[in-house]
Amino acid sequence: MPALAAGVDVGGTKIEVLIIDESGQVVERTRRATPHVVTTPPGAATASVISEALLELLGDDTSLPVGLGLPGMMTHDGVLAYAPNLPSGNGADFTGLMRAHRPGQRFVCANDADCAAVAEYVAGSAQGHDDFVMVTLGTGIGGGLFSHGQLVRGRSGFAGEIGHMVVDPRGPRCPCGNRGCWERFASGAGVARLAREAAIAGRLPMLVEEIGDPEAIRGEDVTRAAELGSAEALAVVEEVGWWLALGIANLTAIMDIDRVVIGGGLTQAASLLIPAARRHLEGMVEGAEARPPIEIVSAHFGEQAGAIGAAFLAARS
Ligand SMILES: [Zn+2]
Repeated sequence: MPALAAGVDVGGTKIEVLIIDESGQVVERTRRATPHVVTTPPGAATASVISEALLELLGDDTSLPVGLGLPGMMTHDGVLAYAPNLPSGNGADFTGLMRAHRPGQRFVCANDADCAAVAEYVAGSAQGHDDFVMVTLGTGIGGGLFSHGQLVRGRSGFAGEIGHMVVDPRGPRCPCGNRGCWERFASGAGVARLAREAAIAGRLPMLVEEIGDPEAIRGEDVTRAAELGSAEALAVVEEVGWWLALGIANLTAIMDIDRVVIGGGLTQAASLLIPAARRHLEGMVEGAEARPPIEIVSAHFGEQAGAIGAAFLAARS
């Protein structure tokens, strides 16, 4: 089957580069470490690394479109306007930088969670669902919104920053400057924080006895204990699931969706969090009995979702 497009996903630690065929299968891939050097212009070091990887996979062939998924607020013109997890890329004009490396090749840049949403819509868990929200749970929370079968990008391209919906104005500080953003509760960082709080408050006595110091309890410790059936750990997971459902209820009120796809790096915890969120969602949604059911499902694509979705996006635009 002929190659369709190349996709690139720039993460905080690694850059995934791959080629997909028309069915969405990955036919070739390579990986690089993400450079974190501040350059003038911004993003130049990252663009060089991407260019090297593309040279490895494509040689000098510029016929395939290339999609780039980037971790932050992307303008319609392909500028990474704000990237809290990739500060060296703040202000980087990735479309311009990549064109300078590979003249003649077509580049399409988008937010990484938007790319993951495209992958799920075209070939994953959201196929046939024109109104859905992609939620990527990692250290933070990313989002991709689909309405009427179209990715919602907003005026500047910044729509879908769902991790920074404020769900508790008196809550913990977020790196974005606000307090009580959704991602402080329902992401990997949220699991870790709620776990530590529960441990310090004496709600995880068995885990504290095993690990020794309540301050040293990590999110993974709670997830692992919950998987083994520990009631005290399951209570923390249930709390995180409640916060997850709260954000989904807000998104439902705004977007009128029938499906939420949960992806991202927190997949192991997601198998526990998704049932917990399902238990709480119905009681939180306005007029639940008058709506079609809202399904919360896991993503089809794993850690390659961003790169695969970027490739689909490039092929479709
Ligand atoms: Zn925030």
